[in-house]
Amino acid sequence: MVGLLPKSHIMELDRLADAELAKRSLRVGFIYVPLSIIVSLITDLSSDFPRQTTGFILLFLLMGVIRSHFARNFESNYNPQNWIKKFTIYTLIPALALGSVAPLVFFYQGAGWDFIICILSVTGVSAGASSSLSPRKKIFRVFQTVLLVPTILTLVIFGEGKAQALSVLVLLWLGQVLVLGRYFHQEFWAGLHGQHQLKLRAKALEKAKARVEEASLAKGNFLANMSHEIRTPLNGIIGMTDLVLESDLDQDQLSYLNDVKSSGETLLRIINEILDFSKIEAGAIQIETIPFSMKKVIEKVVRSLRFSAESRANKISFTIDPELPRILMGDPHRLWQILTNLTGNAVKFTENGEISLSAEKVGEKNSRYSVIVKVRDTGIGISPEAQKSIFNAFSQADGSTTRKFGGTGLGLAISQKLVELMDGTITLNSTEGEGSTFAFMLNLEEAAVQSIEAIEDGEQSRVSDLTGLRVLLAEDNSVNAKLATRLLEKSGVLVEWAQNGKEALDALQNNIIDVILMDVQMPVMDGFETTAEIRKIEAGREKRIPIVALTAHALDGYRDLCLEKGMDDFLTKPLNSVRLRNCLGLWAPPSVQQSVQQSDPQSV
Ligand code: ADP
Repeated sequence: MVGLLPKSHIMELDRLADAELAKRSLRVGFIYVPLSIIVSLITDLSSDFPRQTTGFILLFLLMGVIRSHFARNFESNYNPQNWIKKFTIYTLIPALALGSVAPLVFFYQGAGWDFIICILSVTGVSAGASSSLSPRKKIFRVFQTVLLVPTILTLVIFGEGKAQALSVLVLLWLGQVLVLGRYFHQEFWAGLHGQHQLKLRAKALEKAKARVEEASLAKGNFLANMSHEIRTPLNGIIGMTDLVLESDLDQDQLSYLNDVKSSGETLLRIINEILDFSKIEAGAIQIETIPFSMKKVIEKVVRSLRFSAESRANKISFTIDPELPRILMGDPHRLWQILTNLTGNAVKFTENGEISLSAEKVGEKNSRYSVIVKVRDTGIGISPEAQKSIFNAFSQADGSTTRKFGGTGLGLAISQKLVELMDGTITLNSTEGEGSTFAFMLNLEEAAVQSIEAIEDGEQSRVSDLTGLRVLLAEDNSVNAKLATRLLEKSGVLVEWAQNGKEALDALQNNIIDVILMDVQMPVMDGFETTAEIRKIEAGREKRIPIVALTAHALDGYRDLCLEKGMDDFLTKPLNSVRLRNCLGLWAPPSVQQSVQQSDPQSV
């Protein structure tokens, strides 16, 4: 088996065998010392040969010290060629000494009590070595030979009668110990090979895991880039359609454009779902814990879906348990996303029926509330068969669903993963023809009272007038630029447009600018490079122009990257006029901020 392995592996196995040898020899390093003391005490050797006996004991002690020291420093001493040689020498010297004791006693005292005791001790040591020396076959065999053969030869050559017969017994013993040693040796190496194979497999698995992680990262980046590429023009289409919809149109034009807009929005939703799913798969989604109002979230979901629910002759309603604290800690955006998915499905699969949302307190401990959130409908229901895989990605109850109702089959998979990220579980209870109830339980902490003001809904308009604010817009896409310019000009902002970073730097030299809106991906000079250049120019000056990154990258962590690169804030595309105004209101200089109107936070 060893022959099949590459040289480096054989060396590694040899090293492991030697390490084991060192470890085992440590355990028996001083065994000869007590043994020789006991033998000298129960025989006449100490009185008949005091000097020689003491000499032997001292030799064993010295060899014990050397062997232990040598074995203990295995890691630092190890050198494949030399180590085993030295180990052999340190092992064979005491073995030779012990092996010579019985013949010496035989010559001086004959085959009496002392001789028998010596043979007993030697065979005892030989038995112990069958295990401790088994990792290395050669040493083991030489050791046994050195230990027992002098006695056997002495008995054969110089013994008579029963003494000669004793040699056969010792010979038998030697044979038996060699067989046993070979067995232990095989067992040891089989174990070593097994361990080695396991290690190799674990390494291969590690490598495969790293490759999968790399591939998953590449997939995530690819998806993020693709979604950026697709969303940029799509946002342009939707935004420009919005602008045209605000102009004078006849009935037909209005209807066509509304169709364009709704198709664009559907496409955007699908892209967002795919991106979201891949982000969850890549573990790139983080759940926030901020103060929020459960009622506001549910209200918002119902408000946005009321029209489509009623257009399918459904009643839609919601209830909030009055015992639930008004403000809880959690992730309102992700909660909204889950509820929008579930309620959107309920609306899609229900006609002439009822849809209801509820949030109910089911437990409370140390200001933590167990809350069950439910979305019920009286729609077509889901068959028991389909229920089994309904939370799997791309799974739909039956093949005709996509044709009839659209959808990607990702909504429930995303919802389930998001609920799990919030440490909750989602369940489904459904009867075909009667309806479905999706429920999930969350454990949410009550927010501190003073944080009520912190629950500003980002979508709520706090800023309406930015008259006089001078904004430099660095954006290569002309449709997006036109759209942003329109949105900004409506709030009284003066816009200077630059098509890339280089133009932006030129514009900064020739104009007074209050805030820069900086697209990250631009030709010639991208947003990060331009920001670095601006920050370099500003070094040592008192004034630092706020830079707000504009990007279609919706990945978590991208915001931090933008801030790291010297930007001050971050807006994702499609640009939402309210968010854009709120953000600019924050960065506008005091002269402009005086006209910024703040809304009452309690009305949120
Ligand atoms: P999508 O709705 O995009 O197809 P989902 O993962 O949200 O994907 O839903 C998967 C499938 O589960 C749907 O296609 C539908 O067959 C079934 N389904 C989900 N919610 C309901 C519901 N409330 N009533 C009936 N069927 C449902």
